[in-house]
Amino acid sequence: MTVVIAFRVNIRGVSSTSYRPLHISTPTPKAPPRKSHQTSEMAQISNLTMPPRFGIELDRTDPGVPFRASQSHIHHTWARTFHSRPELYIRPQSLAEIQKVVTLARRMRRRIVTVGCAHSPSDLTCTSGWMLNLDDFKEVLKVDEKGQTMTVQAGIRLHDMNLKAKEYGLTMPNLGSIDEQSLAGAIATATHGSSMDHGLLSDRVQSLRIVLANGQVVKCSATQSPDLFRAALVSLGALGIIVEIEFQMVEASSVEWTQTIRPIEDVLADWNNGLWTTNEFTRVWWMPYMKRAIVWRANKTTKAHMKPAYNWYGGNVGFHTYHILLWISQYVPRFLPTVEWFVFGMQYGFKDNTTITAIGEQRTELLMNCLYSQFVNEWSIPLDKGPEALTRLTNWLHGDEHSSGIPFSTKGLYVHSPIEVRVANTQGREPRPYLDTSYPDTPALYLNATLYRPYNQDPPCRERYYQAFEHLMKEYNGRPHWAKNFQSVDHAYLSSVYGSDLEDFNRVRNEVDPEGMFLGAWHRRTILPSKTDMPIFPLEEKEVVRKDRRSGGVDWIGEQARWWDGGVDVFEKADSESGESFDLMAGAEAENSVLFEGADRDVEVFGTEDMGEVRGRMREGTGEGLFGASVFEKM
Ligand SMILES: Cc1cc2nc3c(=O)[nH]c(=O)nc-3n(C[C@H](O)[C@H](O)[C@H](O)COP(=O)(O)OP(=O)(O)OC[C@H]3O[C@@H](n4cnc5c(N)ncnc54)[C@H](O)[C@@H]3O)c2cc1C
Repeated sequence: MTVVIAFRVNIRGVSSTSYRPLHISTPTPKAPPRKSHQTSEMAQISNLTMPPRFGIELDRTDPGVPFRASQSHIHHTWARTFHSRPELYIRPQSLAEIQKVVTLARRMRRRIVTVGCAHSPSDLTCTSGWMLNLDDFKEVLKVDEKGQTMTVQAGIRLHDMNLKAKEYGLTMPNLGSIDEQSLAGAIATATHGSSMDHGLLSDRVQSLRIVLANGQVVKCSATQSPDLFRAALVSLGALGIIVEIEFQMVEASSVEWTQTIRPIEDVLADWNNGLWTTNEFTRVWWMPYMKRAIVWRANKTTKAHMKPAYNWYGGNVGFHTYHILLWISQYVPRFLPTVEWFVFGMQYGFKDNTTITAIGEQRTELLMNCLYSQFVNEWSIPLDKGPEALTRLTNWLHGDEHSSGIPFSTKGLYVHSPIEVRVANTQGREPRPYLDTSYPDTPALYLNATLYRPYNQDPPCRERYYQAFEHLMKEYNGRPHWAKNFQSVDHAYLSSVYGSDLEDFNRVRNEVDPEGMFLGAWHRRTILPSKTDMPIFPLEEKEVVRKDRRSGGVDWIGEQARWWDGGVDVFEKADSESGESFDLMAGAEAENSVLFEGADRDVEVFGTEDMGEVRGRMREGTGEGLFGASVFEKM
């Protein structure tokens, strides 16, 4: 407990806590309902040190619904680029538990961050507030074999979903480089693979259910609450908690792939002559120093499976050799072109047109080994701008600042490679996510400037390389991949490339989460206007400080915008009897929302006595009488 108290002092910069911490024991699942305080004799799953108000608010919720929270969780991104310590880390197992978390957070004036598997390498998922993880909310709810759709709980990982789908002869239509992500997390950031026949993963979402800030569960689709649907297709965690996803699958199949190392002039010559259109899946790795590229192509096949002849850095020797070479290059950066030649020669062949081929299941063969911790800075630009952009970047990396037109010095600068080059095609597709990184009228080209962090050390070239890269991308009105490590993007720039779509996203967002329960500093820095134009929301979390860690990466520390105000508990200040007053506000806002028109049967509110008044009002509106978690489970 002492540790927790010290942490509070640390993050809020005050000399002592102004409340006496309360030790709460949360109940085991299936604990018998009881009216008295939940500490007592119930078996404990964790001890929480929280302000006294927390115990009072917990008592006001249904004791039969567990609150599975712990306080020792240290969150970090996959790449260990960011770390943060949430006040509570909560892993619900049912919809009722998720709704209870939202109700408690609202009454306690806390921000909620929903995290998948933290594969987004930025500070997007960092919080000192409440972190919700749906790893225990991952069931397959329904498989429609005829319609080839699967309805799943949103925490399911792509890998598990595809494994289950295999039992029904189905698979996901496309994948990015990995399948470890949660489905909700992957769609939330516009995750994509590389294919002219496919778009973002979000494109395959048929419908969604979201728990909103007032505890309602709302379903949306192309025809039902379409504005909410467009916002939810790429939501950056800022809209609510996605709990269920109906996803369009395709028939499972094998793919045959080939990868060939080629001079970049040949690849550029093929750019408009079938490079991207001959095969269902194509991706390119661009090696600027060698002036070569690896072209990887795959098509569906019924041939027998066959493993690739070799995979140098897939083995132990290659993996560790490459890692050590990258680490040496931290101190001798001019070594990097030689590393590029050696490593990719060993991996793909030293001679032009060396080809490797293999056949396997689509769900595994589309994946690749992402090797080590890394920064990734990926942007989309129109596909036809690709040859010019890649040529300019290559010239710049060769020190030709003049012909590159990129106004940043290249002196002493060497970078890791390759640059990942991929496509997505969503032309004419409707409805589109408001925050779609691809384009309605042209295929999108994604350029990903990867920089490894050997043994978790940041590479010295990062700042200048990314400045130059982002300058180039902005010249083509590029759109940054939401999950990744872009550094010079704000609301003004995003407005210029997203136009009214960004304002529409914020309009919908603000309507369903008027107190900013799902907003943090990342959102303020990127998608939201400045505080002058859009004042800070009551629950919006601010960044307080970030500190370098000795072991690499950054500690991110935030605080809630207003609940902690100069050391005075917000409840005392507001002279409020209970956080329940915030429920009435949330309920009234929901009732007035125009987003749910025609969706009454799918609007559900928190199913306990706590929300009785709100529930009553919603019931009048719907005339349906179907409320609460149990109804949700049956629908
Ligand atoms: C090794 C590696 C390879 C990658 N390859 C690719 C690739 O090929 N293509 C590509 O496009 N991207 C790629 N990515 C990026 C990755 O797909 C995204 O970062 C994705 O969002 C990660 O999913 P996650 O489950 O880890 O989500 P997190 O990173 O945990 O969260 C991402 C966002 O989703 C929100 N979120 C999560 N769950 C929910 C929920 N239930 N409801 C509402 N919001 C939610 C979070 O709040 C956050 O805003 C890669 C990342 C890594 C580390």
